[in-house]
Order: sequence, then structure tokens, then C-alpha cells
Amino acid sequence: MSALVAGCSCLTCALRRNGRRIVRKVVVGLLAGVLVLGGLAGSVAVIDRSFSERAIWFDNLLRLAALADREYDTLDVKWSMVEPQTWPDLYQLVKEIVYQIDEEGATTQLIMPTSVGFVDYGPGRRSAVAGTYDPSYGIIVLNERFLTPSWGEQSWFSTLVHELVHAQGYFVGSSATLESQTEIVATEVVAAMANLDYPGARADLLSGLRGDALAVAYYIARFNGGPIHTTNTDNQNLTVSFRGGDSGMMARWQSVRQALLTPTELARSDKRVRWWEERPWEYAEVLGKYAVTTLTMELDASCGTGVMPEPFSQYPLIEGGMQLIWNPKTDAWEMQSGAYWGDAVQLPFLAMDDLRYVLHNELGYC
Ligand SMILES: [Zn+2]
Repeated sequence: MSALVAGCSCLTCALRRNGRRIVRKVVVGLLAGVLVLGGLAGSVAVIDRSFSERAIWFDNLLRLAALADREYDTLDVKWSMVEPQTWPDLYQLVKEIVYQIDEEGATTQLIMPTSVGFVDYGPGRRSAVAGTYDPSYGIIVLNERFLTPSWGEQSWFSTLVHELVHAQGYFVGSSATLESQTEIVATEVVAAMANLDYPGARADLLSGLRGDALAVAYYIARFNGGPIHTTNTDNQNLTVSFRGGDSGMMARWQSVRQALLTPTELARSDKRVRWWEERPWEYAEVLGKYAVTTLTMELDASCGTGVMPEPFSQYPLIEGGMQLIWNPKTDAWEMQSGAYWGDAVQLPFLAMDDLRYVLHNELGYC
């Protein structure tokens, strides 16, 4: 059982801001998903982190990790046993996911990617990036390490869902905002497909909840972070501490983790933590937008009103085809095929009914 967080870090936001004055509606660059196997840490703007709130969240997260782990261990079907083996099977799965995003009321448009494949991201990124989505060309690629022994049993299902949510126009706002909103929608879609009994979806959801819970607990213990109750954050406002962390919390985190993970999972997770701890600022940032904000808001909604407290946003796709596009790399206008996106629109408040069913009715977490 690996503790992992899959998501994306938007590498393009700076480019997009710079380019906006000139070509406001053309998006350049990739949205890249980051894989954080192991523990994790967080980022961002949030403000009132009283010790008591952090301590309560820490306790609850360890409890959630244990509940998700116990349920995960009862499952007979894991993603690795049922993942698509042929391109037609993958195509069918992609179509099902896009329709499920629509059924969740999370999009006003159903957009299929132009292609989905696996790729070698090269040194460095190969260890971190889970998947990417290119909003200009509609291309999704996933890290080929999902198919090698390197990432073990780690499922690529939720990463595919995440990138397909981006593909519906989910790249509005700061990198932290757009990734958190994308990941929250993806989690509800994975929960819906788990409840509909899509093979492998439940295992993916439970291992994801376990990994995220351990990750956010690590963020609290190691980086002195706390829950983040809004997606309207910016990575520039990182308010974590890189000094030693809370030794009592760290010890408890370590003992829970050792109790839940198999020796193989623990070794793999330790290796991931070491890799990320060599990049502490990025670690905290990645944790913030992919794990802390998302899990905080998912638990707030699932155990509370059942609905997200703020609306998410998407860009409407206007058209594709050949267009004159500003290329910031060459500093010139170029004729390229690419998508044209309209002004951002706000979506209805997302209902987290499927995740609530899992957390409330099945796990008894809330
Ligand atoms: Zn992403």
C-alpha cells in the first residue's frame, strides 16, 4: 500500500499570465500531474491555523487512513488486475469517465481528448509527474512508470480521471486553485465509479484516501501546516515551516504508517519521501494543492452539507482547427492547430454525494 498523491502542477501559469495581454484565450503549455508517493506536505494561503484545529485534523487523518486501509485490504479486485490492456478498452474507459464527469454536474461540455498515451518524462520529472494534459492540443499522457515495477501497484486510473477533468476546461485561476478544483472533481468521479462498481475504481479510491490522509498528516507534523478550506489560494503564499516539525506528531505518523503499509509499500514510500525531502519547498507546495486543499474540502463537504462551499470554474471550448498562436518560446506568431477557449464560467456548486456515501456509510468516518 503506497501512500501517494497524484495530481498536476501547472507549469504553464506563468506563461499564460505573460501571454494573456497578447493572446488572451490561447493557452500555451502543459498541465503536469505530480506523483508524490510517500508522505507529503502542503502550501498556501491559509491563515488561521490554531494548534487545536491542527491537532484535531491530525487525529482524524490518522483515523481515516486506518479506516480506508482496513477496507482496502478486504478488496479482491485491485486496479492492476483489471486495467485496460488494449486501446479499444482504454478508449471505452475514457468515454465512460467523460460521461461520468457530466453526470456529476461538473461540466457544461463533454470533451474527449485527442489522444491518451504513456510517455518517458525524462530525468527528474520521471520521478514526479504522474500525467499531463495539453490544453492547446487536447493530448493526455501518463507516466510510463505506471507500467514498470518502479511505482508498484500504483493505479493510474485516478490520474487519467484528473487529466480528463482538466480536459473539460478546468484550468482557470492559479496553479493551486485549478489543480485543487480539478482533483476534487476527479475524486468525486472516482467515488461515483467505485459506487457503480467499475472494476478497480474502489481500490483506487481507498488507496488514494489512505495516501492523502497520511500525506496531509505529514504536512501538519513535518511542515507545521494545517487544513486549507478554500481553493482560492496562490502558491506564492506558502506559509509552512521547513524547520524540524513536531516530533510527537512525527512519531505518531510514523507508527501509524508502519502499521498500515506492507514492508514493500513502506520501503517504496520511504524512498518517495526521501526524494521529495531533497526538494522541501516543492514538496510543501505539491502537498498543498494536490492533497491538503483537496482532502480538507472533500472531508468538510462529505461530513457536512454534502456540497462544496464555493463554485468551481471552467473555460468553454470555442473551437479547434488552425489558428495564429503566440509562441513565447520563439517570441513569434505561428500558425498552429490548437483549441480556442472562451471566458471562464462558474459551475454549479459540486455535490460530493458519492464520496459522502463512502466516507459516511461505508467507512463510518463521519
Ligand atoms: Zn492537474
